[in-house]
Amino acid sequence: MTHSKSDFLSHHEPVTKHCSKCGCRIPVSSPYDDCKECMKRELFPKVKEFINENEDVNEMILAEALGIDKVIIHEWIQEGHLEYRGHHKP
Ligand SMILES: [Zn+2]
Repeated sequence: MTHSKSDFLSHHEPVTKHCSKCGCRIPVSSPYDDCKECMKRELFPKVKEFINENEDVNEMILAEALGIDKVIIHEWIQEGHLEYRGHHKP
């Protein structure tokens, strides 16, 4: 079904990429095989665990420890899904 008429609506991306987990479309430029949602589902618990186990955590450390882009971690924090331990106190 790749030869649809909607091809001209998309950008000039020669290849489409699909999430290896749920099959949804992901940007060809993405360095990952999974969409953000699936990555989140999979990595989020690990990130949380990591934060729980480590006192001094930041995006950089998390990204390196778990092998994910710190942009993604940053997004989760922005969305309020993650909190560093130091942030619990007002
Ligand atoms: Zn997916």
